[in-house]
Amino acid sequence: MNLLCWPVRMHIASVGVSKICFLFSLLFCGLLLFFIPSFQPSARHVNLPQPRRRIRPTQVGSLSHPRDLAVHVDGAEKDSATGLNWSLLDQGGTREAEDGEEDTVDDQRSQDRWPFSRRKGSGLSLSHDPLVLKDIFIAVKTTRKYHKSRLELLIQTWVSQAKEQTFMFTDGEDNELRLRTGANIINTNCSAAHTRQALCCKMSVEYDKFIESQKKWFCHVDDDNYVILPSLLQLLSSYHHSQDVYLGRPSLDHPIEAAERVKSDGSVSVKFWFATGGAGFCISRGLALKMSPWASLGNFISTAEKIRLPDDCTVGYIIEALLEVSLTHTHLFHSHLENLQKLPTDAVLQQVTLSYGGFENRRNIVSIVGGFSLVEDPTRFKTVHCLLYPDTDWCPEVKPHHRLYH
Ligand code: UDP
Ligand code: MN
Repeated sequence: MNLLCWPVRMHIASVGVSKICFLFSLLFCGLLLFFIPSFQPSARHVNLPQPRRRIRPTQVGSLSHPRDLAVHVDGAEKDSATGLNWSLLDQGGTREAEDGEEDTVDDQRSQDRWPFSRRKGSGLSLSHDPLVLKDIFIAVKTTRKYHKSRLELLIQTWVSQAKEQTFMFTDGEDNELRLRTGANIINTNCSAAHTRQALCCKMSVEYDKFIESQKKWFCHVDDDNYVILPSLLQLLSSYHHSQDVYLGRPSLDHPIEAAERVKSDGSVSVKFWFATGGAGFCISRGLALKMSPWASLGNFISTAEKIRLPDDCTVGYIIEALLEVSLTHTHLFHSHLENLQKLPTDAVLQQVTLSYGGFENRRNIVSIVGGFSLVEDPTRFKTVHCLLYPDTDWCPEVKPHHRLYH
């Protein structure tokens, strides 16, 4: 401060000098105080992933899933639409529509496309740290009985484009598949039963392997999901891995409510959102590290046991209820709980994950036309893959006038 006063001191008589100096100092400090807060984000902003934007979601009825029925789900009357954080990519109504349910396709059309122009330049400056596929750890949950019927298709399609960073968490040895495909197959030694404990056991191993991997993002998908890797990369590039980011599709249109048995004795309840595991979700490394006390080294299983919730709900509980970080809702992730036929054809390739109905609902598939018939490609995953990677050796040759699907 005194340095500032030095030239003044040269020209003004000695008595006035110290007073003028003092006044200058005060003025200078005042100016500093005035400007500094605008350069520093508040603590709250630091916690919020960018970009995001608040909008009012449409109020629609809730739908549940066998997985969700197992949990204590709050009634629709307690639905709260306020305070939702919606991904910049998702604007409009929200719900998971089961087959036959109405959805506003026009709304869907606008929200399921990539607003590339808007995304560019929004959020953080990424020029010095571009995200690459290698930064993403992709965990696929599977089980021994689905190695042939589900996993092989994934290994043949999208996993082939992300071999190094995709890990399949299963419950039985399959050296033949490992040797033949070179895929990263991890035998968790968890039970092969479709129970909460067995599924949480797998999630616990997925979490530990991710932490060990040093990668920037953790993404979890089921073995009936197709991951559109360019879209995933684009989406995650909008955020920074050191921010607290939890991205996914809510299974319900309202938060679930569970007895709080971690922070209290269960006499009070807690409400939180969770991303449905069947559509896939992603967590930044920064946030994953904060989950450690409740998620690492088997703690995930005990947390899930305490609140008696399935794996994906437990993830939501740890993040939203314990760490107080909000789920960023996105409609770019898809499970077979919604009517996949309603996804506009020209928006399919811009989604982050896709799924298919499977045996019980063979007709619930994305509507996309390409080189494979419904018989040849009942899940539509091969068709999607060949549209994304037409040079793949098993893809049918694309005639120039057939390049665009109708
Ligand atoms: N799964 C599992 N063990 C089982 C049954 C299923 O790990 O005994 C996995 C399966 O591989 C998939 C996920 O759990 O990744 C969901 O299974 P599915 O699609 O059959 O059921 P959903 O809950 O989607 O109806
Ligand atoms: Mn499924």
